[in-house]
Amino acid sequence: MKSTEKVYLVGAGPGDPDLLTMKAVRLLREAEVVVLDRLISDDILKLIPSGTSCIYAGKAPGKHYVSQDEINEMLVRLAKSGRRVVRLKGGDPFIFGRGGEEALFMAEHGIEFEIVPGVSAGSGCGSAFGIPLTHRGLATGVRFVTGHCRDNGELRLNWKSLADPNTTLVVYMGLGTIPEVSANLIEAGLPASTPAAAVEKGATENQRICVTTLGELPERVIAEEFSPPTLFIIGQVVTLAGRLGQTLNAGKVPDAVMEDGLTAHA
Ligand code: SAH
Repeated sequence: MKSTEKVYLVGAGPGDPDLLTMKAVRLLREAEVVVLDRLISDDILKLIPSGTSCIYAGKAPGKHYVSQDEINEMLVRLAKSGRRVVRLKGGDPFIFGRGGEEALFMAEHGIEFEIVPGVSAGSGCGSAFGIPLTHRGLATGVRFVTGHCRDNGELRLNWKSLADPNTTLVVYMGLGTIPEVSANLIEAGLPASTPAAAVEKGATENQRICVTTLGELPERVIAEEFSPPTLFIIGQVVTLAGRLGQTLNAGKVPDAVMEDGLTAHA
């Protein structure tokens, strides 16, 4: 019998394959089986060699929904079969990715695992539209919060602490609850005029953004028919969106030129 292999919980970033880590690319090439999230972009899927088994373990319209328990069991079973398993997850596995739960399950079952970080959607979307998540004079910090509750129950967030004008808020999974999020933040004291943005499919070819205010965010998102995956960036840093735009990313990156004084000595 083959020995048990390791499970790699790998972050795939927000969609652009160029944002994968080199380690993620290497592991995808070496994997014997890849267990995929629904949010993995086609361009990233193309990096997986054609002979590798791929298992879809996400909610997809019209398909069987694979529960988290089933995914956990599947990962253990695959690892025990001695195969080299990559569990590929959107963004970063440890940011709203349930990577922690999967890692705990591996640990409890004596399966070796390794976490490979990825670019989280918040970073990817901010960079794609020139919104620094922190910026001197505009935001002293950033908070990543979920707009989704277990079993679609009431959102129980500490609105008072979130309504901080000096901290950027990035709301993941909030498309369905943005009216609630907006109303609660305003009620807790964050001005309705606070700059806010919705970003759909950030860091992909189909990305788009809507820059507005916290008060108007819910109706703009509905009027402009934003669909998943979408996240929200709320805070003064959003004022920079128009100024930095995408121009920073648009130019071709020149080949490295070593100049006196800047030369990196190997
Ligand atoms: N682990 C992931 C987040 C998973 S939760 C990460 O670190 O990015 C899924 C949520 O992430 C979506 O509901 C959406 O809010 C956000 N998201 C993921 N990819 C996105 C993208 N390309 N553009 C905008 N939001 C995205």
